[in-house]
Amino acid sequence: MAKGHKSFHLPESRAHYVPPREYRTVHTKVELAVDFEKRGIAGACTLEIEPILPGLEAGRFDACEMDVKRCAVDGEAVEFEYDNSTLTVPLKPGKGSYSVRVEYAATPKEGLYFTGPDAEYPGKEVQAWTHSEPESARFWFPCHDHPTDKSTSEVMVTVPKGFRVISNGKLVSVKEEGARATYHWREDVPHSTYLTSFVAGKFGEITQEVGGIKLRYNFPESKRSDVLRYFGETPRIIQVMEELTGTKYPYEKYDQTTVEDFVAGGEENINATTLAMNYYPEAGTEEDFQPAYAMPFNNAVNLVAHEAAHMWFGDWVTCSDWCHAWVNEAYATYLQSLYVERTRGADEMKWGMGAREVEYFEEDETEYRRPVVDRDYVWPHDVFDHTLYRKGASMLHELRYLMGDEAFFGGIAEFLRRHAKGCADTDDMRKAMEAVSGLQLEEFFEQSFLRPGYPEFDVEYAWDDRAKTATLRVKQVQDTSDGTPVFKLPCEIVFYVQGKRRKFRTDLDATDQTLVFSLDSRPSVVEFDPERWLLKKVKFDKTSELLENQLDSSQDAWSRSEAARALGQTGSDKAVSALKAAAVKEQFWDVRACAIRALGEIGSAAALEALEEVGIRQVRRVRRALAKALGNFKDERARRILVNLLEEDESPYVRCEAALGLAKSWPEGALPHLKGSMGVHSPNETLAEACLEAMGKLKDDEVKSIVDENLPYGRPTRARVGALKAIKARGRIADDEVPRLKEILLHDKEFRVRLYLVSALIRELADGRFIDALREVSKKERNGSIRREALEVYYDLTGVAEQSATLARLKSEVEELKEENRKIVKGAA
Ligand SMILES: [Zn+2]
Repeated sequence: MAKGHKSFHLPESRAHYVPPREYRTVHTKVELAVDFEKRGIAGACTLEIEPILPGLEAGRFDACEMDVKRCAVDGEAVEFEYDNSTLTVPLKPGKGSYSVRVEYAATPKEGLYFTGPDAEYPGKEVQAWTHSEPESARFWFPCHDHPTDKSTSEVMVTVPKGFRVISNGKLVSVKEEGARATYHWREDVPHSTYLTSFVAGKFGEITQEVGGIKLRYNFPESKRSDVLRYFGETPRIIQVMEELTGTKYPYEKYDQTTVEDFVAGGEENINATTLAMNYYPEAGTEEDFQPAYAMPFNNAVNLVAHEAAHMWFGDWVTCSDWCHAWVNEAYATYLQSLYVERTRGADEMKWGMGAREVEYFEEDETEYRRPVVDRDYVWPHDVFDHTLYRKGASMLHELRYLMGDEAFFGGIAEFLRRHAKGCADTDDMRKAMEAVSGLQLEEFFEQSFLRPGYPEFDVEYAWDDRAKTATLRVKQVQDTSDGTPVFKLPCEIVFYVQGKRRKFRTDLDATDQTLVFSLDSRPSVVEFDPERWLLKKVKFDKTSELLENQLDSSQDAWSRSEAARALGQTGSDKAVSALKAAAVKEQFWDVRACAIRALGEIGSAAALEALEEVGIRQVRRVRRALAKALGNFKDERARRILVNLLEEDESPYVRCEAALGLAKSWPEGALPHLKGSMGVHSPNETLAEACLEAMGKLKDDEVKSIVDENLPYGRPTRARVGALKAIKARGRIADDEVPRLKEILLHDKEFRVRLYLVSALIRELADGRFIDALREVSKKERNGSIRREALEVYYDLTGVAEQSATLARLKSEVEELKEENRKIVKGAA
């Protein structure tokens, strides 16, 4: 039986198309007073619209959960209809344009969010901020809420004096009246509704400038000393993005504002990005900062670069429908990688892409497999997954390889020129790329974006000494029953012959291919795509000698890392000495880290000795690998180093890894050390999270009470997630935890805790006691990620998805039978 992947399509999924449009919105003016106490807004939205056909008799607007008070058209009050999601306003047909003014109030449950202190988190800032992607603008202003409707905008927001409002475009004025102030912003570049935004709160401000563009960083005062560690590279990022896209930054300013409880890392509101608070690197953490220890490739630079890239891909040119959202997200993700390539080198960039691909592979294996472009979803937010970001970015990397740099970057500039201030889809992208290169890319786009999966190669190598030929048999062994293609891709095969690197570019296009290469003599290194252009999995068994040579002398760091990983599987003494040599002398940190982890995998006395000699005098990310490796040894010497790393290391993330390693290496003695480190401060208290996860692996009754203490609302978010990780590590949810976890699932205010609970804990433990709660969450939850995860896990647990697929199949069989029957009856008549 084929191993098969779960389907992205749930019973509630349906095909989504661009909704019909009856008018163009030319200008949107939102005037709102913010009431922080009532967590509500009141005011008006005026839409200047132009009918597409002259006979338009009514304007229909998306407007959800509002209290609509009055509507006027061209200054004249009109009777309107409102069903809580669509507002219908009568128009006198025949005019070329209308000004529709809607007066309303709302206390939005999504789209606009309020934060503030409570008894449990007294330090939280009073703020209001919008987050409208994909379709939540309609909760705070009436509009045609789809990316295809682009208009200029004005946002006028009234707040108590002392608060600032940050929005899109130019700050036209600030008018103070009594105890209140009104901020008036105006954006002259037409943009999609989801990119209109405002943030209101008490913010400090630091400004920089690049090429005449004003860069403004807005932050709560408590973060002032960390601000430049978060945003300081912005000028360079903007410059590099201009170079990469061949397009000047298209706006006069760029605001970046951090807010409490933000529901994503960042959101690319047009020239006014909103970002999360958990990315501020504290002093001394820059070298290996990450928002939490399990996110090794997430950091401020990557986040800031990603959102800045959206100013071109997403804001200047916008995906024309959500199924094409890779045009926004894959580009932002890839441009972020290209920024890393420019500033930190290709090895660092490839490491980051590889780490992100791991997330995509995980999604593919445990959640579902889908093509990048897929219009069958339940909610638009569903497509914002690893397939969209990670696989999408990897497909762009392949495209760049296929086209070459000149054509690829030329295509980017051409695409941005063609669709400036507009919307574009997958075909538009292909056509721009074809126009500059003369290539025909339909086949590549089809396999990359319209078909699911990736190639899984099985490679065998043989050397014929008499004929002086190297033979590679390359098989594509991926399951193609779900639409995954047999891939047609260029691929590099590299041999090192007498110290010289020989590179051959071949075309892979079949399930079983034999490639023969004539060489002067037996190669010392044989590599398959060593520069890492292709998204793939490879099984390529090599002799220890070939692996050792590859680790020692390949020019490509990624390939050396792969050799280290493979040597970890062989376990020989020779492998140990090769890995030890690499761990000491290797230039690139990840190769050292891979060699160290491989020594940990080997787990022999010789391997431990090698690790001791490698020692802790390493950069932080390598010490982290050391902590992981040492966890594999049930040996006092390993413990001693681990305790030392846990309690003394300057890097919180090394400490986290040491906590996990110590629990593994010394389950009977780790608890006092973990308890001792729980309270040591780390960024976002991620060390508490790691200690809790580590404790979950211990069989000790005391752990349960520590988990109980850290679960409640009021504890640091990461500690709460750590408590959930501890339960997951234990492998079972205790009876008394079920009601507490249900309470969190249904009512907790922290989305990160709810999300982890659904997407990891309940999903992995497959606990049927949560079926009803998951169903409820899938109906009432407003966070798109949690809602989707809850529905998936619900179907996992009930097996309903499977049943409905069977049902659908039976239905279609019945239909076929009916049809046959009809034919027979007809024939008889
Ligand atoms: Zn993005």
